[in-house]
Amino acid sequence: MTTAFPVVEESSVRTSLADDISVCSQCRLCLDLCDVFPSIFAALEGVTDADPHLLTPNQQNIFSDSCFHCGACTQRCPHRGPDSEHEVDLPTTFIDLMQVRQLNGYFTVRQRITNWVLSAHDLTGPIASRCATFVNWCMQRPDTLRRRLVTAVTGISSSVHIPRISGQRFSTWFRRQPMPVASDRPQVSVFATCSVEYFSDDAARSVIGDLASRGRHCELATTRCCGAEELRAGRVRAFRKRVRRLTKLLGKESSKGPIMVMSPSCLAHLRTNLIPHCDRDLRPNAELIVDRLRSPIEVLTESTSAGTSRSLGTSDSRRSLLFLPGPHQDPSERTAIEHAIASDSTTIQVIADAGMHMGAWALRQGNEEGAHRTIKRMAKRLPTPTDAPRTVARSGLLSSQLLAHETGDDVVDPVTVLLSASSDEQ
Ligand code: SF4
Ligand code: SF4
Repeated sequence: MTTAFPVVEESSVRTSLADDISVCSQCRLCLDLCDVFPSIFAALEGVTDADPHLLTPNQQNIFSDSCFHCGACTQRCPHRGPDSEHEVDLPTTFIDLMQVRQLNGYFTVRQRITNWVLSAHDLTGPIASRCATFVNWCMQRPDTLRRRLVTAVTGISSSVHIPRISGQRFSTWFRRQPMPVASDRPQVSVFATCSVEYFSDDAARSVIGDLASRGRHCELATTRCCGAEELRAGRVRAFRKRVRRLTKLLGKESSKGPIMVMSPSCLAHLRTNLIPHCDRDLRPNAELIVDRLRSPIEVLTESTSAGTSRSLGTSDSRRSLLFLPGPHQDPSERTAIEHAIASDSTTIQVIADAGMHMGAWALRQGNEEGAHRTIKRMAKRLPTPTDAPRTVARSGLLSSQLLAHETGDDVVDPVTVLLSASSDEQ
């Protein structure tokens, strides 16, 4: 059993991590998720009786460093996650370990810079957006001299494909949109999140346009970053300060309407971590906020005639959609997508357990090979391409881009599928 906070005693964290690993029953269901479990099993082969308590601190650090914190293992493994009999949660223990390493000064200056660059989006995002042309010139082509220079300074891998930074921030675009006047219906508070605020993301803009066209008033939440990467980097104190701020700010967003979190991994992170990391006096507030958190698909299906079957385009007589739900995706979203496109001309195939999310941590130098292997495993779960045109739908900016690059498929955000089906219906 792990504790999210506070943790300062290194030996207890390391013992807790070994205990977490020791509940494994060797079913191997997790082997194709990420690099963490294969490297744990390889390391266990080298110690007496495969005893996790004999693994070295350095080995534990390597496991922790290669976790993207997607949460997929807590759903796949029969012994992990809040509903299992052991209540172990490896990603949370990894955060505890990162925090201990941070507090005990184990990171080099270079590692601290990398951890900061990958997690201080409130500062790096606005700068990157302001200098978008230059940043995209530097970052868009992997394995170039300029990318290697960036790696030398920041620790961001030179070989990973990175989504384009947008020259116009989402919040700037949003403020220029005509909005219907507020009505009796609860307003939608839009929590843009960093990936939508700073990267080019047409799907998010389409969602706002669709809601506005249906008379749904949206307002922009006065905060951008959910702090997931702060937690991932072990900057737990910074994250707890953010939680306090978030809880006060989001609690003030108007009325009792939904808070639409535009990025799926940020939504999963807030649902999981906001309450456990919140100070006791603000917990009732945090619980109310978590209750109001919604994904764009949830808001759209609440706002339209969800459950009506429609076709995904009408021109192709044999079109297939491969849908990869993300970890922690609400089952109702999957149902909404299935209902939205069920038709004679479009077949939908749900590829369950293949929709891992990757945040900025996947860009860290040293994690690029693991990210690549993870995407390759994800690609292997897709059926062999046939002559019939197909579309792959999955959310998450970085992993979608990497998957598209790996398979050559057109990878679209599921919300685009829903909107496209919806416009066909009108
Ligand atoms: S899914 Fe869980 S029990 Fe099965 S091999 Fe992986 S860690 Fe062990
Ligand atoms: S990367 Fe995802 S699946 Fe792998 S250990 Fe971390 S949280 Fe679990």
